[in-house]
Amino acid sequence: MDQLLNLDGILHIELLGGQARALLMRSTSMVEAARRTHQTSRVATAALGRMMTATALMAVSLKGEKNRLSVTIKGDGPLGTMIAAANAQCDVKGWVQNPQVDLPRRPDGKLAVGDAVGRKGVLTVVKDLGMREPYVGQVNLVSGEIGEDFAMYFTASEQTPSLVSLGVLTSQTVESAGGLIVQMLPGADEAAIRSVEMSAPMFENISRTLKDMTLEEAAKDLFSHLEMRVLESRVPRFRCDCSRERMEKALISLGRAELTQMIDEARKGIDVERDGTIALMCQFCRRSRRFTADDLQALLDQAVSPT
Ligand SMILES: [Zn+2]
Repeated sequence: MDQLLNLDGILHIELLGGQARALLMRSTSMVEAARRTHQTSRVATAALGRMMTATALMAVSLKGEKNRLSVTIKGDGPLGTMIAAANAQCDVKGWVQNPQVDLPRRPDGKLAVGDAVGRKGVLTVVKDLGMREPYVGQVNLVSGEIGEDFAMYFTASEQTPSLVSLGVLTSQTVESAGGLIVQMLPGADEAAIRSVEMSAPMFENISRTLKDMTLEEAAKDLFSHLEMRVLESRVPRFRCDCSRERMEKALISLGRAELTQMIDEARKGIDVERDGTIALMCQFCRRSRRFTADDLQALLDQAVSPT
């Protein structure tokens, strides 16, 4: 296969002289990395992949270097809770509560993402923009298909009517994944709105569109009739920002009682590894870090008497 077809990327595109904008992304490698990390079923790969793709696209709009955002979808379907988070560099991580749950395909051959996620529930976005309080927006799920749910979020919570198309094609591995968000910008006239609306059918099946084209070719295919101008391009990655230090902070925040209990159990040899350490795993990248009872004791001492 052409090497370029494998590369993930995001294009930020101006349309119609600034009356609208589009964010177009190929996320095949990112979603495949998530699939391998979490050993997700096909439907879980599609659900988490769509969600991580939309989260990466939202991260393009983060202005400050240290800004970050997270999206949580709590649906009433068998996949349980899903979380995706991204920073301003478009490093994305994701997690799904029940990654192995799978459902038969729908009669039309598509993956039953809505049934797996659940049709009732909430989508919550938390943006840390370096202010004292984070920005929090929440909407009820529309269908659990993820794309429609994000479209509702942009329209209802950010007052930005948006077309959202997300797609993941999977066989054993991820064959093609990608996403597209088209947003009207303030001051758009009726003609511009109509032009974008009439193009909407072209934006469906985005993972298929991207399968046999480079990102640039796909952009031309989708937007050349809308006076497209590429403003910037980004390289998103599946990457976790966890560290031992972050894990230590999380341990301290458990509080004195729970930490004391962990130390007692570790000293008694309960739930310890062969070498006597406790292995704690990051839920996003499944990387384990080991702590001895003495390590935990040191954290407890810190928590009790902060210096
Ligand atoms: Zn991690």
